[in-house]
Amino acid sequence: MSSVADEVKRRRTFAIISHPDAGKSTMTEALALHARMISEAGAIHGKAGRKSTVSDWMEMEKARGISVSSTALQFNYTPAGWSDDDEPAVINLVDTPGHADFSEDTYRVLTAVDAAVMLIDAAKGLEPQTLKLFQVCRHRGIPVITVINKWDRPGQTPLELIDEISERIGLTPTPLYFPVGIAGDFRGLLDRRTGRYIHFTRTAGGAKIAPEEIMDAEAAAAREGDEWVAASEESALLTEMGQDHDQELFLAGETSPMIFSSAMLNFGVRQLLETLVELAPAPAGRTDLDGTVREPTDPFSAVVFKVQAGMDASHRDRLAYMRIVSGEFERGMVVTHAQTGKPFATKYAQAVFGRDRSTVDTAYPGDVVGLVNATALAPGDTLFNDPRVQFPPIPSFAPEHFSSLRATTADKYKQFRKGMDQLDSEGVVQVLRNDLRGDASPVLAAVGPMQFEVVTARLKSEFNVDTVIDPLGYTLARRTDAESADELNRQRGVEVFTRTDGALLALFSDKWRLQYIEKEHPDLTLEPLVATA
Ligand code: GDP
Repeated sequence: MSSVADEVKRRRTFAIISHPDAGKSTMTEALALHARMISEAGAIHGKAGRKSTVSDWMEMEKARGISVSSTALQFNYTPAGWSDDDEPAVINLVDTPGHADFSEDTYRVLTAVDAAVMLIDAAKGLEPQTLKLFQVCRHRGIPVITVINKWDRPGQTPLELIDEISERIGLTPTPLYFPVGIAGDFRGLLDRRTGRYIHFTRTAGGAKIAPEEIMDAEAAAAREGDEWVAASEESALLTEMGQDHDQELFLAGETSPMIFSSAMLNFGVRQLLETLVELAPAPAGRTDLDGTVREPTDPFSAVVFKVQAGMDASHRDRLAYMRIVSGEFERGMVVTHAQTGKPFATKYAQAVFGRDRSTVDTAYPGDVVGLVNATALAPGDTLFNDPRVQFPPIPSFAPEHFSSLRATTADKYKQFRKGMDQLDSEGVVQVLRNDLRGDASPVLAAVGPMQFEVVTARLKSEFNVDTVIDPLGYTLARRTDAESADELNRQRGVEVFTRTDGALLALFSDKWRLQYIEKEHPDLTLEPLVATA
């Protein structure tokens, strides 16, 4: 039996941060292919006659007992060079919902990971959703590995992409692998640390792991000619500019190891997995409210980072996802919920561990476990086994969508108020109030508009209140203070609110309005809200 320390050492828990369409799903599938969880890729890029990826995973789950949920994917991986006697690395990939379901949960996921992979489309460069997620990583000190994807299609040059990242977000890319062949002509990767060349061969439809041929510089030059020379020269230039990998700077969030890939062709995917295992940090301790660090090898503790409520009235199920911080988790264990002091039985934990219930009985720091019937749990809550521990709450994140909410009839005010308090405490949405609008029509602030739909659906199903949402003409918020509030309220296109946690937020119609006011009134307190504690 292995110790908790050994289990921690072999774990890597990460999320992919990207803009919709950069290739997150395709990359997830490619990673699963390389980890041999699935035998063939292609479902996501729509090859007819293949099963959907999700059901492939379910099949794998049944056959091998791999734990799968839409929230976290766990797989084993044995890097090249590890012997068969070594226990494989355990990789947890926690999903960051995007597209229409981009919400505060997407940011909260980042409180549950130890590293992030920033996946960028080679043609598009940095895109808005990636930037927002990156800011949260930076704020939380999460180290970032950069992957330039879709190198099989025309795009920018490597140096353009590297410059864009350095200049726009102040993160210095330190490529580990440099592409040989321009975007659209992806031949292979120059391994900058060994100087060797990895040549890839396409497989039909990119369904299988791409065969690799590894050769020295001389053989590479003979094979790829000018393309190899160009890659070598640019790589040497990066070395001159000090852009070689440095583990300390990477962990400090100053530099980012970079890889070029084609998730669709499975090029660069093995390199990403090896980089995660080699460079990304294993689960570390977490500081509690008292400032004491709960080390991974301490008794069991976990943080809830996401709660899904059934929106169907007949199905009031609540599913809470926890990330294990310390100790060994065993299915069936009774733990303590720090916020209420009450016991919490985990006998249903296995339901989302996977279909093959008998195979997954234990989990370790870095792992994500789903708990059903978790009515008392909210994001940020702590579960523990003695000694007692409570971790700081998850901060709220900068909202960008604002709507007022009211009940369609006045007679249900009590239920309306009760429902709002409940949803507010669960972190479903941020609730803002001011005297002008009164209690009957609070303003809801969200990261994504889907959060409003959850509010109206749950008020209806759980509190039996019909509500209407009226979008407001505000698009951004700044934190302010009582001294600045009066002046701000006098401005056109600005309104000040108190959030439930006491923070004063000024909402602005657009960034030009904000810039104008900042210029006219430089003394006002207006701080950006990336993540506020
Ligand atoms: P997501 O929205 O980030 O999950 O992106 P998807 O994985 O769904 O990919 C979006 C589109 O880009 C799909 O049509 C994919 O087939 C395509 N795609 C993803 N990765 C690559 C790649 O490496 N090369 C090319 N040419 N297309 C890709």
